Amino acid sequence: MERFIRSDQYHFIKNQAHNLLNSHMTTNDASVTQALQSITQEKVLDLFTELSSEQEQMIAQASDVKDETDAILYFSRLKQYVVPFPKLSEADIQKLFPKVKKLRVPAIPNEEWTELSYIGWNDVSANRKYIITTVDGELTGLYGHYKPLRQKSICSLCHEHEKVGMFTATFKGENKEETISRGNYICHNSQKCNQNIQSRQPLESFIKRMQA
Ligand SMILES: [Zn+2]
Repeated sequence: MERFIRSDQYHFIKNQAHNLLNSHMTTNDASVTQALQSITQEKVLDLFTELSSEQEQMIAQASDVKDETDAILYFSRLKQYVVPFPKLSEADIQKLFPKVKKLRVPAIPNEEWTELSYIGWNDVSANRKYIITTVDGELTGLYGHYKPLRQKSICSLCHEHEKVGMFTATFKGENKEETISRGNYICHNSQKCNQNIQSRQPLESFIKRMQA
């Protein structure tokens, strides 16, 4: 079976299975757990438009998770079918930011590539944040001014309450003399943000909004 699960879908399934696990541990009411089991199954299958019977069987198993051991085993199996983020060399990354002279690219540990919806890093000395992701299937790089916020707030990419900063991108408007700046709060820690992302739709619309 080939890899067919996106990182955001993987995190969604994990989250659903965790909710179910919680229910198993906190309620003795079998009917409650059974109801949640069928909701879980429906929700995880709903993520996909087309599944082979083998794939469907594996995804549906999210509703069989009853304890921590089940969860660990299931997630590690699932992870084998997650499509990793396209592997990029430093030169590939530099090409995505042709205007940036001294680009500092972080090393991403091998095991992390399968859990990424985007690559994001901070260049603290330049007050910048860089983001690479695919938008409508195309690899896209975006950078902007980045200023950490003191208190936690909602991230526009993962929608969780996290340590965030104001990300501001500046670009040319339709009229070439016009400059447009747009800003939004996003997670300070992009690894953490990726773990939170259960739908890549807000990520893609964020990138589009910051470019036009
Ligand atoms: Zn986030």
